[in-house]
Amino acid sequence: MQIWDNYGLADHTTMGIGGKARKFVEADSVQDILDALQMAHAESVPVFILGAGSNTLIADEGFNGYVIHPAMKAVEWLPQQDGSVLVKMDAGANFDDVVAESCRRNLGGIEALSGIPGSAGGSLVQNIGAYGQEISECFVSAEAVHQNDCDVLTLRREHLAFGYRQTALKTADNPFIIVSVTLRLEPFDADKAAERCAEHGFKRMALNKPKTASELRDVVIETRRSKAMCYDRNDYNTHGVGSFFVNPVVSGVDAQRLNAASIIKNHKPMPSYPADNGMTKLSAAWLIEQAGYNKGYCFKGASLSEKHCLAIVNRQHATCSEVIEFAQDIAKRVYLQFRVELKPEVVYLTPTGIGELPCTPKDAELLGAAFRPNPLFL
Ligand SMILES: Cc1cc2nc3c(=O)[nH]c(=O)nc-3n(C[C@H](O)[C@H](O)[C@H](O)COP(=O)(O)OP(=O)(O)OC[C@H]3O[C@@H](n4cnc5c(N)ncnc54)[C@H](O)[C@@H]3O)c2cc1C
Repeated sequence: MQIWDNYGLADHTTMGIGGKARKFVEADSVQDILDALQMAHAESVPVFILGAGSNTLIADEGFNGYVIHPAMKAVEWLPQQDGSVLVKMDAGANFDDVVAESCRRNLGGIEALSGIPGSAGGSLVQNIGAYGQEISECFVSAEAVHQNDCDVLTLRREHLAFGYRQTALKTADNPFIIVSVTLRLEPFDADKAAERCAEHGFKRMALNKPKTASELRDVVIETRRSKAMCYDRNDYNTHGVGSFFVNPVVSGVDAQRLNAASIIKNHKPMPSYPADNGMTKLSAAWLIEQAGYNKGYCFKGASLSEKHCLAIVNRQHATCSEVIEFAQDIAKRVYLQFRVELKPEVVYLTPTGIGELPCTPKDAELLGAAFRPNPLFL
């Protein structure tokens, strides 16, 4: 275990933003995690778990507690008699390395998640998803440490309340530190993969019709690169957290209202996808663009990615406050234009722990005087 005092966190995030942590602990084992928890308890300060920092926005003031970074990276591949393979990953394993190896073995289950940065632990917390696939679909179990009593226990599907980019772990009062995640992967099924891609409008995949998991991975990565959705140290368009906001899920009635207005205004329908319980998922990127923001739109040190309207990126030494101000601006305008609330996908770390990112459009009306919404969409 290594411990640093007053440790700068910005370099541990893909946004490259954030102040210092009182303590930063690199944990090489479960025992290290337990020891770090005891030290934090003894000092009566909070604990935050940081994986690869690809879905975390850290306050400029930093974090007045222990940041524990799980650095255990072992991965075990356990073939089963029924042809499936269990893969058990330590929380600190690079999730995309596991996806790459699963594709090399021509296994299906996580191939569409290719190119998403992050640790195995962080990927579970957010129930990562892309192109119609989510990690929850092949989740078997996770080993976790309970922060209060330091017990090590097994979490199963029923404990995690998986949702769209959401789990019970992605909450301010989550007591669990994930130490390993086990998934069940099946032999790659090209027909099933093609069906899913068609359902989710993944055109490039429909054209390529990949026959193996590796071929599918190649198309996914190529597509993601074209949208600056693969992290690249040298490209500021990737210095964000992927999608800053989740795609809003609205009632069928609201979706119809917006669609009708879109046809009148744009002469074409608004992009939308079926969601659970008869609801409709809208494209947050489309809403943002329609509210007047172009790709590459700059706001102080931050900007939208030049390749994707849903990614707020650190273009030039942005501060956390600037990113929040920008996110508020976007959420307010989208709300005023469409009466649709944008909710952040990113986790916001404040000096005392995970906080609510203050970009809900409760005070949207304040902007009203300066901004004239398009009456068609109201
Ligand atoms: C360019 C880019 C593209 C992206 N594309 C996608 C995408 O297509 N789909 C998608 O879903 N996401 C995407 N993301 C977001 C991000 O990559 C994922 O959410 C990723 O899985 C986060 O993992 P992490 O280790 O970086 O988590 P972190 O940012 O380190 O942590 C995120 C949350 O998980 C918690 N956490 C992390 N590890 C543990 C643990 N071991 N135990 C308990 N809690 C833990 C943290 O406390 C925090 O609350 C993208 C990000 C970038 C930068």
